[in-house]
Amino acid sequence: MEQGAVIVTGASRGIGEAVARAVAADGRPLVLVARSADKLEALAAELGGPGRCLACPGDIGSWDDAQRIALAAQEAFGSIHGLVNNAGITRDGLFVRMSPEQWQAPLDVNLNGTFYFTRAVAPIMMRQRHGRIVNITSVIGLTGNAGQANYAASKAGIIALTKSVAKELGSRGVTCNAVAPGYVVTDMTADLPEKVRLGMLERIPLRRFGEPGDIAGVVRFLLSPEAAYITAQTLVVDGGMIA
Ligand code: NAP
Repeated sequence: MEQGAVIVTGASRGIGEAVARAVAADGRPLVLVARSADKLEALAAELGGPGRCLACPGDIGSWDDAQRIALAAQEAFGSIHGLVNNAGITRDGLFVRMSPEQWQAPLDVNLNGTFYFTRAVAPIMMRQRHGRIVNITSVIGLTGNAGQANYAASKAGIIALTKSVAKELGSRGVTCNAVAPGYVVTDMTADLPEKVRLGMLERIPLRRFGEPGDIAGVVRFLLSPEAAYITAQTLVVDGGMIA
């Protein structure tokens, strides 16, 4: 197995926490990122503590935090095997009522955050001539969605960024792929009205919502030696919802 740590953003709960647990189960050192320092510290201690798992509280929408955390990861573990750009937010609202601030928020966090962390880690991976970048996008970035124009644009941007980075860094041994979850049971989807949830369930051939572990398993695969020849792809993990 390739050496080096895996940085997981948005690791304090939901899909990111499941990814962190899956990566730890593979025996890889981890760097956990989110704003909630207490949750990160507790998870880092559970997953092995100093030497195995480092909590790095920070805001992914900050270029300074991205640079600081990339350096901390390299200093702590020597090399960086993977970066999982998972942290994300929604600010839902009808397009015709959307304020410029509401439009900007998911772009600042989801798209800029993915840029900042990839930009901070890419030179390290290029020097190593090895690295795996996995960006969590969404099926909404492929289909669009009423009430989510801002989120959809941020997630579509991540898909285009993924393909571009894959093309630019491929010759240096760095792969870059995206995973597009459908509906996954986390805090992000907890507030959806029951009627909307049931309507979605009917459109899912597998007749169940996704669990964070369903996404973590695919990320784990993309970080594994078996995925060495996969790059520039977007893997849809949605129970068949948008097929
Ligand atoms: P979640 O439960 O709301 O967790 C979001 C994570 O991102 C938390 O760990 C949060 O930690 C972190 N985060 C948010 N803003 C941040 C910031 N500015 N800086 C650092 N960390 C930040 O969401 P989730 O459902 O697990 O979603 C994870 C990813 O999957 C997101 O990119 C989301 O768009 C995508 N996705 C989710 C679904 C779904 O159905 N759940 C579907 C498609 C795609 P703190 O609050 O501690 O900072």
